[in-house]
Amino acid sequence: MESKTTALPRPTGAAANEAAAPLAPGAAVSAGPFPERGPALDDIAETAPSAVGEIVARARAAQRAWAEVPIGERAQLIAKVKRRLLAQTEEIAALLHRECGKPIEEAALAEVLPNADLIDYWTVSIEELLDESPVDLDAIAYPGKAGRIRREPRGVIALITPWNYPVAIPLRTIVPALLAGNAVVFKPSEITPRSGALVASLFDGLLPDGVLAVAQGGGDVGAALIEAGVDLVVFTGSVATGKKIAVACAERLVPTSLELGGKDSAIVLGDCDLERAARGVVWGAFTNAGQNCASIERVYVEQSIADRFIDRVVALTGQLRAGIDVGVMTTARQAEIVRRQLDVALADGAELLAGGAPEPGSLAFPPTIVKVEREDTPLLREETFGPVLPVLVVKDVEEAIARTNASRFALTTSLWTRGYERAHALARQLRSGVVTVNNHGFTGALPAAPWTGTGDSGFGVTSSPHALAELTRPRFYLEDRSRAKGELWWYPYTPALRTIAFAMARVRGGAGWLGRIGALVELVAAFARRLLGR
Ligand code: NAD
Repeated sequence: MESKTTALPRPTGAAANEAAAPLAPGAAVSAGPFPERGPALDDIAETAPSAVGEIVARARAAQRAWAEVPIGERAQLIAKVKRRLLAQTEEIAALLHRECGKPIEEAALAEVLPNADLIDYWTVSIEELLDESPVDLDAIAYPGKAGRIRREPRGVIALITPWNYPVAIPLRTIVPALLAGNAVVFKPSEITPRSGALVASLFDGLLPDGVLAVAQGGGDVGAALIEAGVDLVVFTGSVATGKKIAVACAERLVPTSLELGGKDSAIVLGDCDLERAARGVVWGAFTNAGQNCASIERVYVEQSIADRFIDRVVALTGQLRAGIDVGVMTTARQAEIVRRQLDVALADGAELLAGGAPEPGSLAFPPTIVKVEREDTPLLREETFGPVLPVLVVKDVEEAIARTNASRFALTTSLWTRGYERAHALARQLRSGVVTVNNHGFTGALPAAPWTGTGDSGFGVTSSPHALAELTRPRFYLEDRSRAKGELWWYPYTPALRTIAFAMARVRGGAGWLGRIGALVELVAAFARRLLGR
């Protein structure tokens, strides 16, 4: 499937191997019981960029035959992936622990179990979702005609994914894309090639050769894939790469779906269930070591409960156990970005309430809380993608919404309140693509719920029939059984036709009642002349 050329480099940095310990606020924190990364990645071969064209050509040939397989059969084949996935839960969790540094529980709960639901959802609903739908046509204006819309596969889809959820994110596109009759060429992140290979292996022997292919490697392989003449690019990753991909796709007029970064806020109202809000915010900020596009990266709390809320969040954070509740970061590069943002914020006057950066080079970044007042610091403006939670006290929810909306990112936002009706109205003022009340972030795991953003968070849609609309294209099919020898609007264009056009515009609302009655009379006469060819 791949041309074996170079071995992928090992990820830089390595997790330490120390015992789990509670994290004391402000303390330099040791890593949890994580093994060294590995084993070595030498057995995963990188695809040469020059080989990508051939992979896409094979996928294109395979796709034509795959699209002819009845949908029900495609669904039966892909339904088998669920059992394989569930049967390998422990191995997958162990791999994600090694390759990304995730706690085992988090790996199983976030990356395996929701994918069983995903496979159920799509395999059960795909036939109905792809079913032809009739288009109502006016029988007087369009006699003898019937229209239908079919959802056709796009063809070959390039899927380019990040390292933070390297099993769940690809499957969310691969499953519906294949069911819809597409071929997929999947380029996993170069940071998590093993997880990428594992995802592809779940389909081994179920699909015709070439329908799902893997191209392993970095940005050059991703770029080669876009150049190879694919029909859609589905990308999840950073804003910077997303912009490059948008340009490359624009030059080739290839449609693209971009799921990019986030700077999610949690807005905590004075009437919330404080314990639930504090626990939910701590999880939303630190799950996956904060390396989540929907991580809570800002919490705006109304001043009426700010002190109590902050105290509770700090206390709960202090109870988190390194390596058990919070994993190590996946890359040294990302840990360095987080450290820099934190350093600048502290220099800008932020107050450290818990955690703090580890020694340089360490991936064991402790869950960190800072109280911040200024928004003009990178920690509040850029995506952090690490376990640092800035807390900001606001006068009221309106201020929190204005500050939330001022960000260039708008992926998800959570409101924490018992005022459900008010929350429903407030949600409409938010720009983000997902709004959750008294919860955060987990809806990415719901296959029927669209996951989408706006602004720098991109414009792609994952999951739900809205995603299927991106993975297919509509084809309109019109059948005309009219016995007439021609249509009103066909040649020749005569004075009678012009009268008909103008009179119709008046009849259909371009004139008052009197004008319409006059136009009707004109229409009848003009139709008669038209029939005579005048
Ligand atoms: P990244 O942009 O560095 O890399 C993503 C993928 O793009 C990788 O597979 C990479 O090899 C590839 N790539 C790099 N340059 C390319 C190029 N020029 N052409 C084609 N492909 C290229 O992102 P990352 O560091 O892997 O992931 C983290 C980012 O992903 C964060 O910003 C995070 O918010 C975002 N993310 C978003 C969502 C979402 O649903 N919105 C989900 C997960 C992660």
